[in-house]
Amino acid sequence: MASLISCPHCGARPKEEFTIKGAVLSRPAADAGHQAWTDYVYLRDNPRGTHREYWHHTSGCRRWLVVTRDTVSHEVGFCQDAAAAKLAEVRP
Ligand SMILES: [Zn+2]
Repeated sequence: MASLISCPHCGARPKEEFTIKGAVLSRPAADAGHQAWTDYVYLRDNPRGTHREYWHHTSGCRRWLVVTRDTVSHEVGFCQDAAAAKLAEVRP
């Protein structure tokens, strides 16, 4: 049975329609030092457990999404539009 991802725009769709684009990370301030930017661009933790990632619904609505995925079981939990996720971070 195929794994289904619940896209907020398209509904439940097979995971093969999506492309994983990378971890959701906190971006350093524009005036952060060279080491902070080097770490941001090149260094990644490889956590076990729940992790937030950017996914692109490549074969569907072509929207960027923020997906919560368990890195051990690969179970996908919460999925929301990346623009909505960004607004939620900015607003208290
Ligand atoms: Zn979609």
